[in-house]
Amino acid sequence: MRYFFLFTFLLFSLTSSAQLEWVPQHPGTITYTLDLANVQQHELRITVDFPAVGPGIFKVKMPQSSPGRYAQHNFAKNVYDLRAFGANGAAVDVYQQGIAEWAVAGHGGAVKLEYTLFANGGDGTYSGIDDRKLHLNMPASFLYGEVLNDRPVMLKIKDGQRSDWTVATQLVEVGNRAYAAPNYYYFFDSPTMVGTIMRDQFEVKNPDGKTQTIEVAMMHEGTQAQFDDYVKWTEDVVLAQQKVYGEIPEFDYGKYTFLCAYNPWIGGDGMEHRNSTICSASVGLEDYADRLIGTVSHEFFHCWNVERIRPASLEPFSFDHANMSGELWFAEGFTSYYDDLSLVRAGILSPEDYAKDLTGQLNYVLLRPGRDHRNAIEMSQQAPFVDAATANDPDNFGNTFVSYYPYGATIGLALDLTLRERGHTLDEVMQLIWQRYGKTEIPYHIRDLQLALGEVVGDQAWAKDWFANYVYKSDLPNLGALLDNYGFMLEPAQDTVSFMGLRLRETDGTLTVRGTIAENSPLYAAGLDQGSTITNLNGQAITTQASWDAAVGGLEAGKAYEIGFTQLGQEKTGRFTASVSPQMNIRFEEGKRKTKKAREEWLWVEE
Ligand SMILES: [Zn+2]
Repeated sequence: MRYFFLFTFLLFSLTSSAQLEWVPQHPGTITYTLDLANVQQHELRITVDFPAVGPGIFKVKMPQSSPGRYAQHNFAKNVYDLRAFGANGAAVDVYQQGIAEWAVAGHGGAVKLEYTLFANGGDGTYSGIDDRKLHLNMPASFLYGEVLNDRPVMLKIKDGQRSDWTVATQLVEVGNRAYAAPNYYYFFDSPTMVGTIMRDQFEVKNPDGKTQTIEVAMMHEGTQAQFDDYVKWTEDVVLAQQKVYGEIPEFDYGKYTFLCAYNPWIGGDGMEHRNSTICSASVGLEDYADRLIGTVSHEFFHCWNVERIRPASLEPFSFDHANMSGELWFAEGFTSYYDDLSLVRAGILSPEDYAKDLTGQLNYVLLRPGRDHRNAIEMSQQAPFVDAATANDPDNFGNTFVSYYPYGATIGLALDLTLRERGHTLDEVMQLIWQRYGKTEIPYHIRDLQLALGEVVGDQAWAKDWFANYVYKSDLPNLGALLDNYGFMLEPAQDTVSFMGLRLRETDGTLTVRGTIAENSPLYAAGLDQGSTITNLNGQAITTQASWDAAVGGLEAGKAYEIGFTQLGQEKTGRFTASVSPQMNIRFEEGKRKTKKAREEWLWVEE
C-alpha cells in the first residue's frame, strides 16, 4: 500500500507514541539550537547546552570520522568563533587542546557553547548550508561532549526562522521543530535535511505480519510525476531486496528514510546509515533517474549488509579516527554486486544493459595489475587512504590498488554463479549470514563468512579452498566459463595492438607520457615512465599523436620492437613485445533454452 505523505500525520503519530519517554524532560539532554540568520553565506550559528557536567575541565571534540565513510576527515577546520559560558551564564575560558579538541574551565557544572559552522559542500560526508537548505551530515556539523555519549540529544531550529522549511531526518520529531536522539551514536547516524522537500512513503510487510514505513524525502527541481515514478522504483527495489533476505530489518522507531538531494547545488554521493541514507547528485531525475536509482539500491542493501551484518573491525565506531576493515570486499563489494542485480530483478535494468555494466566492471578488475600486490582483504584495508581521502604526495595505486567495490562485486558474482552450478545461490548464503550475524547484531569475522558458505553447500573443505584462493589469495575463477551458462559471452573487444590505458600529451612537437604506466603494459617493460618523451618507435620519428598512431598501426602483435625516448634529460632506448588489447566485451546472447532458464532463475526475469 502506498499513500501520500501528510506531515501533520507523521508529527502526530510519532509524538503520540510512548517510545519517547527518554527525550522531553530528561535532565541531561544535550540541546543544539540552530540559528539560520546567515545561511546565505553558508554559516550556521550553533548553541549547545550541556547541562549537568562533572567538575573540572570539560572537553568537547569535533568528530574526525563519519559513519559509512572509511577515511579520516578534518571537520574541525570549519568551526570558528567558539565561545563558552558557565552555569551562571557568564563567559568562561575555552582553549584549543588538539586539532579537534577544546577544553572549558571554570564552568560550575553546566556549559553553554556557541560556535559558527561553515559548510558549503553537501553530500553524504559533508554538510551544505545555503539559502535553499540545511543539508547536515551530523559529524561534519556538531561538536560533542566527550564523556556524554549516553545522554539524549536534541536538535532545535530557532523560532521564527524559515518557517516554510520542513525537516526530513531519522531523528525523532518531538514537536515545535525539535528532533531528538537517544544518544550520540544515533544522533551522528541521522543526517538531516531542512528546506522545501517533496515526500511520499509506502509500507512494507514482513512475513511475521509486522509493517514498517519507508519514506522518500527529496529536494529536487523536477516534477511531481518524476518523483512519483521514482518512489515506485524505490519500492520495487526494496521489495526485490526483501526477497533476498526474506525480510527487511526492524528499523528503530519503525521507519526508514531515503534522504534524496538531486539538484545542481549538491555533491554526488550515497551514504548508508542504520535507519536512513543520503542519496545525492548534482543532476536531476529527468535525465538520470535510471542511474540515480542504482545508489538507492546500493544504500538500501546496506541496511542489512554493513549496518546490521557488521564486521567486527568497524565496532565500536570511533568518531576520533578511521576504523580499518579487511571486510569491505564483502561489506561494500557484495553490496555492489547486489545493487545492479536488484535493479534487474526489480525490472528496472534490462539484462542487456546489465551485461554492459558488467563489461566495465570486469575490464577494470581483471586488467588492473593491483591484484599482484594485494588480496581482497588488503585492498579493503586501503580504504582510509582512498575513500574520499586527500593527500598531496604521489602514490602507486594505479599499479597496486583495485577498488574493493568492483573487486568485491566480481567475487560476489563469481561466487553466486559457482554456487548455482552446485544447486545453491548466494541469496541462501546472505540469508544464513543475516539470520546468524545480522538479525542478532553479532559482529562477524571473515572466518564466519567462510563457515556460513560451507554450511550452505554442505562442504566446509570446499568453502575453505574457495576462500583460500579468492579471498586470502587474489585469484579469480574463470568468469568467462561461468557467464557462458547465462548467455553472457565474454569475448575479446579488439584485435589491434594497443598499450593499456596509455595517456599521451602533445606539446610543441613532442609527445610525453602522462600518468602512471601500468606495470602490465609492454611500455613498462621497455623502461618508460610518467614524463618520458617518446622520440621514435620502430625506426619512425615521433613528434605528434598522429605520428605515434601511424607507427603503432604498423606493429604486429607478438613481435618485438624498439622505442626511443628521453627520461630525466637522458636519451634511452627500450624493447617491448607488441600485444593486442586484453579488453573484453560481454555479448548478450538471446535465449537458448538452457541459458534462458538459468538466466531467469538468476535475474528473476521472464523472457
Ligand atoms: Zn556502500
